[in-house]
Amino acid sequence: MAKAKPARRTLDSYTVKHISKTIRPGDCVLMRPSDSSKPSYVARVEKIEADSRGTNVKIHVRWYYRPEESIGGRRQFHGSKELFLSDHFDIQSADTIEGKCTVHSFKSYTKLDAVGNDDFFCRFEYNSSTGAFNPDRVAVYCKCEMPYNPDDLMVQCEGCSDWFHPTCIDMTQEEAKNVDHFYCHDCSSEDQKKLPNSHVSARNADAKVDTKRRRR
Ligand SMILES: [Zn+2]
Ligand SMILES: [Zn+2]
Repeated sequence: MAKAKPARRTLDSYTVKHISKTIRPGDCVLMRPSDSSKPSYVARVEKIEADSRGTNVKIHVRWYYRPEESIGGRRQFHGSKELFLSDHFDIQSADTIEGKCTVHSFKSYTKLDAVGNDDFFCRFEYNSSTGAFNPDRVAVYCKCEMPYNPDDLMVQCEGCSDWFHPTCIDMTQEEAKNVDHFYCHDCSSEDQKKLPNSHVSARNADAKVDTKRRRR
């Protein structure tokens, strides 16, 4: 396509005037969707090209897919800011860029103090023709054996160190935030099992409930 025309040249960076931001290969950008009711598309800039006069700037992108755009659709463990790095490449006019954004690794996303509008995370690559993910396995937690969704509060068992969703252990969100020591059903001792919900065993009050998960 345009790439093959000798008159075009590659730019190291380009300032998108209507948003006053400079983009470079490797940056992640938000792009205007064809359907304005949809959220912005997210893409990684691979290459920036212009014609010999530096105009008609085209951006070679690699698309990120949102979970609902994948063949399997959005699943319960997908975070609201989750994206999949697809194998879908494209060339777009620089005019469609609406802003810059950051696509974090899963680990760095879970360490953010605050998640801004322009913060996303990616833990899977996605094959747009087969619907396959890479990696195809991730660690699972809780009785429900689900991968971690960073939007969800979880409590950690002090016995086995597994993490649990409050709803899976008959705990309210409020209880989960305030629980001091939690032992899951399997780790509870016999006398604790007499209590209907063993988690409320008010032993000591110094453990913390973390919204994070075990790291692998
Ligand atoms: Zn669960
Ligand atoms: Zn346990």
